[in-house]
Formats: sequence, structure tokens, C-alpha cells
Amino acid sequence: MALLDIRNLTVKIKTSEGILTIVDKVSLTINPGKILALAGASGSGKSLVMQAIMMLRRDNVIYSADRFKLDDKDLLKLSSHQRRKIIGENISFIMQEPKRSLDPSLKIKTQIYEVMPKIKWYRFFTRIKNLIKNTKRQTAIALLHRSGIKDHSRILNSYPSQLSDVECQKVMIAMAVASEPKILLLDEPIVNLEIASRFQVLKLLDKYSKNDETSIIIISNDIASIYNFADEFAFMYAGQIVERGTREQIFKNPRHPYTASLIRSMMEMNNPDNAKKFIPVLTGKHPDYKHMPIGCRFGARCRYAKRRCNNMPEITMGKNSQYRCHFPLPDGALYSDD
Ligand code: SF4
Repeated sequence: MALLDIRNLTVKIKTSEGILTIVDKVSLTINPGKILALAGASGSGKSLVMQAIMMLRRDNVIYSADRFKLDDKDLLKLSSHQRRKIIGENISFIMQEPKRSLDPSLKIKTQIYEVMPKIKWYRFFTRIKNLIKNTKRQTAIALLHRSGIKDHSRILNSYPSQLSDVECQKVMIAMAVASEPKILLLDEPIVNLEIASRFQVLKLLDKYSKNDETSIIIISNDIASIYNFADEFAFMYAGQIVERGTREQIFKNPRHPYTASLIRSMMEMNNPDNAKKFIPVLTGKHPDYKHMPIGCRFGARCRYAKRRCNNMPEITMGKNSQYRCHFPLPDGALYSDD
């Protein structure tokens, strides 16, 4: 049974020019301890999907979904207050740019103490011994150690501006896991980090996923870095998931031309000699949400487009993937020039 099961999530934004549908019928599931990567160009709606999962309140945003189940609880049948409570207890969200997410006016120790969970009565007796031993400071140190920070004294007594980007990211992760969430959402956690630091952060997240069975949904455009990290990938384009599947399936035989173009870019980056062999990287622009095409949203940039693509393709369920394309690429197309 999926830990999180969302069907047909739609996010609309009220603008001065009318209501725009930015996220269009996105369906997502994730199982305990699994890592799902949400990839795609900037502006494709990935961050809004995360915000919708958290049901973050914004006056100009309208969320709707046909199904929203968390740990088999149907959140759509609950009041918005109950819904937010369950989400808050089970999901932690780390937004982009950790340095800006931390309060610059407070030392790290104050910020970590604030997110430590309150003790529930039924945990009281089992935790009382630990509580005697573990002061808040000791718990904070343990959290930092688990997040790969050894010099905890310096970190705890620093302000965010005194820390490096990777230290801030590790602090954010320590704070996010303090409440033992079942699901961790991360929006571009490795952007702006050096290669070695990216690896450290991903390794840390992988450890939490494996040891604590924490499910992770990560947004990243850096598919070369997260390739070995995620179990599943979902690619978004213009507010829709155009392909989703296991890492093995997607990177071996992508079905959607957009997915294939991103994977080719990654292959070219890893080995510039490959650049000669593969079809040119994507050209053209992402469509404007004010003037979305009626048919396939990728149509204007797709080298395989045909007349039928003027009709919106439905999602097709494959063996280890699902895709939204009338003319899916055959096996081996990634390495062919046809
Ligand atoms: S439906 Fe047509 S235009 Fe869209 S991605 Fe597939 S082939 Fe290209």
C-alpha cells in the first residue's frame, strides 16, 4: 500500500489576467522508504506540487485533487484543520535555498530546539529515561551528528550567515527529521552546492531513507547527480507529468521525447564525445501558461510530432513506466539518431 497516494492534483493560480492552471492532474504515489525524483525544467510546476502536498496556504492559489491519501487516511474527508495537522505530523518540507529558509536572527541551536517534537503522553513512559539523560542540547547534537556535522558546538552557536551552504543544508535536514516524519520533501536540495557537497547531502538523505524508512520526494534538475540516488523518476513538462517510472526503465528506454532529450543532455555532459552521436538537445521554449496548446504541450518542440498530437495524449500505462505521448519511443531510441 502506498504511503502517499495523490490522484489528479490540480493547482490554479489567480492572476490579474485570470485563473491559470499551472499543475494539471498530477498523480503521485510513494511507498515507505522509497525515493522519488521530480525532474523537469524550471517553471514546469514541480515546486507547486510540493507546496500542494504540504497544502501551504496562499491566497491566490487553489488546490484540488480526486484523491489525497496519507498512510491510508483519506485527507479529503477531513476538515482543512485536521488535514494540515496530519500533514504537519507526517511530512517535512525543505524549501529551496536553506540559508534563506533559516531565520537569520536566531542562532542554530534556538532554531533546532523549536522544531523538536513535544512529548506525547503514550510515549512518556518509554521516553522518560532518555529525557532525564538527554537534554535539548544533547538531542540537538545527536541530530546534527546524524546529519554529518561533527563540530556541533560551532554550528549550534552560529547564525545562519556564519555557515556554508552545505552546513545550512545539513542543519535544515537535521531540523526536518527531528519530528521523525514519514515523508521528506526537498526542493532542489543540492542546487548551488559543490560536487563533493552534493554527494554528501545525497548520501545523508539516502541514509535516512534506508535506516528510518523515510520516503523522500526530491525536486532536482540535476539528474546526473541524482541518477543513482532515486528509485523512481517523474518528469514534468508544462504542469503535467509526461513520464514516470523506475530508474532502470526510464534511463534505459525512455518513452517520452522530452525525457529522452533530458537524458541525452545528461549523457553529453558526462561524456562530451557523445555529443556527436545523439540527436541535438532540446530547442525552443517552454509554453506560456496563458496560452497552453490544446494538444500535446510538448508538441511545438517535439521532432516526432504528427497531426494526432493536436489532441492531448492520455496517460498510457507501460510495464515499468507510464507516459503521456501518442508516439512513444521504442526500445533503444536513446542511442539511435532516427
Ligand atoms: S504526443 Fe506527439 S508531440 Fe507530444 S511528445 Fe508525443 S510525439 Fe511528441
